[in-house]
Amino acid sequence: MIEKQEAKTLITFWGTRGSISTPGRATEKYGGNTPCVAIRHGDMTLILDAGTGIRNLGIDLIQESETRENHLSLHLFLSHTHWDHIQGLPFFLPAYDSKTRLTIYGSPKKGRFLASVLKGQMDYEYFPVSMGALMADITIKEVSEEAIRLGPVRVDWQDQNYHPGGSVRYRFRIHDTMIVYATDVELDRIFQSEYSPREKESLIQEYVDFIENADLLIADGQYTEEEYLSKVGWGHSSISVISEIASRARVKQLAIFHHDPQHSDKFLDDVWAKSRARYGSDEGKLDIFWAREGLTLAI
Ligand SMILES: [Zn+2]
Ligand SMILES: [Zn+2]
Repeated sequence: MIEKQEAKTLITFWGTRGSISTPGRATEKYGGNTPCVAIRHGDMTLILDAGTGIRNLGIDLIQESETRENHLSLHLFLSHTHWDHIQGLPFFLPAYDSKTRLTIYGSPKKGRFLASVLKGQMDYEYFPVSMGALMADITIKEVSEEAIRLGPVRVDWQDQNYHPGGSVRYRFRIHDTMIVYATDVELDRIFQSEYSPREKESLIQEYVDFIENADLLIADGQYTEEEYLSKVGWGHSSISVISEIASRARVKQLAIFHHDPQHSDKFLDDVWAKSRARYGSDEGKLDIFWAREGLTLAI
């Protein structure tokens, strides 16, 4: 039996900037905090990455739990453990609250790597408070072959090899809504000459199958086509490649994410205008937009 969708799913961008936080007037529209996105459905809160944006989310969650007098139960999915995706965790207030339950998911690739990296960034040399001071009930889970089920949410994941050290993309199905989070991956690498046409096709198809018909795809689009030429091997995609693949996969909305630290609001606005004319906006076409800190979408 198909379950009926009971409530809207809300997606809020708390951090959209790649690599390093970029506060300042030139970035105030799209935001300067590093990656963090919250997906909320009913009383379920899923958090994607723990960049500096997670600090403001934490303050918001604490205020909300105080007014509602309920305890927080949170699920944090890490794409990988590069600084820009974990450095907000030591500033995430709910993690210091003994009433919070926090489950952290990440790649299983390197054995006990995930727990030790998270603990490592809170070593005394880097931070005054150790991970042991986090009073929340924290479980660190390395994802396995099986899909994760959390109430009405089903989570699938895939490894992304085209990023230094690798990363993980996640697909969240909530009733009949599908959201994919796929940051920090250099899809342009698929089009490099080392692959035969058949290999290229199968690599593209693997990605298309994962994102097909998504209601929302949040994807790495750090570079313009021209910029990418001098950034080969840096682990990030060009806007044109992700837009073309998303369009082929009949994605409904594409949120370009992980903005380059050098890209000002003005620059992003200009690139958006050009990209929208090329890939989206008309009926039946992909709805492409730039992820903006503070933006909430309801699906
Ligand atoms: Zn990153
Ligand atoms: Zn990275």
